[in-house]
Amino acid sequence: MLMPVINATGVLLHTNLGRAPLAHHQDDGYLNLELDLATGKRGSRQAAVGEQVAAAVGAEAALIVNNCAAAVMLALAALAGDVGVAVSRSELVEIGGGFRVPDVMAQSGARLVEVGTTNRTRLADFQRAIDNDDVGLALHVHQSNYKIVGFTESVSIAEMATLGVPVLADIGSGLLDAACPWLDGPPPAWLADEPAVRQTLDAGADLVMFSGDKLMGGPQAGIIVGDAELVARCAKHPLARALRPGGLVLNSLQTTIGHYLRRDGDSIPFWRAATTSLPYLKRRAEAMAEAIPGAKAIDTEAVPGGGTLPTVSFPSAGIRVQGDHLDTLRNNDQPIVGRVEDGSTVLDLRTVDPDDDATIIATLTQ
Ligand SMILES: *Cc1c(COP(=O)(O)O)cnc(C)c1O
Repeated sequence: MLMPVINATGVLLHTNLGRAPLAHHQDDGYLNLELDLATGKRGSRQAAVGEQVAAAVGAEAALIVNNCAAAVMLALAALAGDVGVAVSRSELVEIGGGFRVPDVMAQSGARLVEVGTTNRTRLADFQRAIDNDDVGLALHVHQSNYKIVGFTESVSIAEMATLGVPVLADIGSGLLDAACPWLDGPPPAWLADEPAVRQTLDAGADLVMFSGDKLMGGPQAGIIVGDAELVARCAKHPLARALRPGGLVLNSLQTTIGHYLRRDGDSIPFWRAATTSLPYLKRRAEAMAEAIPGAKAIDTEAVPGGGTLPTVSFPSAGIRVQGDHLDTLRNNDQPIVGRVEDGSTVLDLRTVDPDDDATIIATLTQ
């Protein structure tokens, strides 16, 4: 049975726990999903939320589908049905759960033209493919869950934009804006190398595709933003109907995007957890350790997870209890998911809502 769980793993976007923590409420009843209230006529289920998403990243238009894999598949099917798509050999990625770029391309009907090498790809490699291989589209895929270091060379979006063919960027993680205007203060240092939607568009990408439930912190969704004419071609493709989201997802996404537009990152659970101050986490850990016999407050390291930011960790705090109690905690009335380190149970508080501290204390003092 699906039920709320307390995530004490310290993995902010935990794939097994639905990636981004979702805060959503919807009353019983109907929704004006496809009714234009101004005219009384049938409207597009995409229009309202799409406009808000586009506004949040400075794009002309946006289209929402079921997940990022669907967004990539749809964009390729709609725009690359009869031309080759050039992709750097360093970006033929596999994301968890079987999303493999070559396979998604094959399913979309697009013809993959690999360019460059695993570690080095240059603009001239793309140019050659366009000249010799009937390439009509260039695709950039973010190396979300791995890094290639050492003797490397890659082609930026700005360079790709000079090629004269549409440039599509699958950035996966869905950081909306590198400036993070929804946070108090400057962007966190751990975001330094992460591509952002607004800046990828500004650099010249014609379309950007990303997930709703990674760094965006919303529901599972895939989002295509960018050039209005290209977005419209995606929306008109028959696959768009098969991949469209339901009212629940659109309503939830509207809530999340509303927080961004109001610059209220604190109302987005992912950003609240990611930016919680270390002293506050330590105070909670110490209070917990005092209340639970045998528990000790410890320093921990939390991670973004969800196949994003593979080299980043956040200083965090939690408690350690002797022995492996994972089964008991997971089978609690309100399941608690932690981790075991060196034979002890570790609960990391960065991913725990402070309102759940009392539940953890009560469970571990039993
Ligand atoms: C995560 C990711 C995907 C898949 O996203 P889903 O929303 O899980 O379908 C695709 N591309 C990249 C680069 C990713 O990081």
